[in-house]
Amino acid sequence: MKSKNLHHDNAILAQPGKKHKVSDFDPSYKAGLGGKDDGLLLLEQNVNEMIELQEKLYAHNRYSVLLIFQAMDAAGKDGTIKHVMSGLNPQGCEVYSFKAPSAAELDHDYMWRTNRCLPERGRFGIFNRSYYEEVLVVKVHPEFLMAQNLPGIKNTANVTKKFWQSRYRQINDLEKHLTENGTVVLKFFLNVSKEEQKKRFLERIDDPAKNWKFSSNDVKEREHWDEYMKAYSEMLTATSTEYAPWYVIPADRKWFMRYAVSNIIIHRLKELKLAFPVLAESEQQKLEEARQMLLSE
Ligand code: ATP
Ligand code: MG
Repeated sequence: MKSKNLHHDNAILAQPGKKHKVSDFDPSYKAGLGGKDDGLLLLEQNVNEMIELQEKLYAHNRYSVLLIFQAMDAAGKDGTIKHVMSGLNPQGCEVYSFKAPSAAELDHDYMWRTNRCLPERGRFGIFNRSYYEEVLVVKVHPEFLMAQNLPGIKNTANVTKKFWQSRYRQINDLEKHLTENGTVVLKFFLNVSKEEQKKRFLERIDDPAKNWKFSSNDVKEREHWDEYMKAYSEMLTATSTEYAPWYVIPADRKWFMRYAVSNIIIHRLKELKLAFPVLAESEQQKLEEARQMLLSE
């Protein structure tokens, strides 16, 4: 089965420079694919292709790849990371999860904790949540900002539209800097519907093997669904750029979500034209000498 290039599919790509609303993207879109069996087959092919591309990325040693995952609870960040990255060499890939900031983290600017975890050249870095929380959960709960001791922010009345515009600009500046210096920034918003989230929460409650995944706080956050969707929409509009666009991944079908993420990673990596380094003539001469030495032992 032929794999199509989803990175140009406007049902998934949040086109840079356009106004976006989450509700314009369909959480159950499947890009004309049949069903789960097709998706699993394509995912398997993509995972194999990623193994090859990872080797090249490492040998080429000019780029690193940062994968950012953002989503509402139970959209499937963990499962997607697990399945899509399953074949990769652990030496060339690191996953970081960002939760509510610690006291030490609050004592620094909000990008400090993520900047320390950026991938080395030749490697994949995966952010399970990221600095985007600072324009999502923090935008829904501006009172969280008080713990950050920012200049000019004494109460929530100080948190104006202009404040958020500055944050979007700071994020775009960072991503431009990273991109210009060889980090490919791929941003995935796993877009689950409210109905599907409810279904998955209920499964977590009903199935003892899934109870550990459930937190009653998640149901409380769900009450802010509309505010979150507004924050996500504003994030897509402000931070989907030519150099680091957002991909809105339909998340109601887990098989499609995993396939779509792998598809986009592969197509973006292929654009880099990664190649194994070719040795200079003098180095090739040395290889030949080494061959002769070994053979004449
Ligand atoms: P996840 O919810 O990602 O599957 P988890 O359930 O293991 O992981 P939680 O303890 O729920 O982990 O931590 C994630 C929570 O941390 C989310 O509610 C998220 O919004 C919050 N969080 C992350 N970054 C920030 C931030 N910068 N400020 C405030 N809250 C944050
Ligand atoms: Mg959680």
